[in-house]
Amino acid sequence: MAETVGITKEQLQEILIKVIGAAKAMNPIEEEEYKKKLELKQRRDLMMIELGKIEEMREKAKRDGCTHCRWPAGGKQAGMSAPKGQGEWCTAGQIHGSNTIVLLCQRCGWTWIFKGSEAELDYAANAGLLGFPPPPEERCLQTA
Ligand SMILES: [Zn+2]
Repeated sequence: MAETVGITKEQLQEILIKVIGAAKAMNPIEEEEYKKKLELKQRRDLMMIELGKIEEMREKAKRDGCTHCRWPAGGKQAGMSAPKGQGEWCTAGQIHGSNTIVLLCQRCGWTWIFKGSEAELDYAANAGLLGFPPPPEERCLQTA
């Protein structure tokens, strides 16, 4: 006669759940595919990180390399990059709500966002913000 073991209903349920779980587990082929997909995803993620880094470096180089200045029209080097603070600023901008001035470099896209003083707002409203000198960093609410 076969040997029997005593088992509670709960224990039986537990065993059944484990057995079903194992049966549902991936077979080797599925597992292989899953691994491949995972690897691909990891490689893609890494690539995205790398691309992000490259983009960041490129942006930084562009900013660091950009003086946001150009030689004024009429000269030999008109429109060419001028050393920082020389020539004219190649900026343009807009006044936004609550006296915020958004100024950006037309060459590299660097943006200065700052609260305009009364004089600055006056000037901007009358003459516009083309060639407007950017404010010192500490006045910026945000740069990007
Ligand atoms: Zn610039």
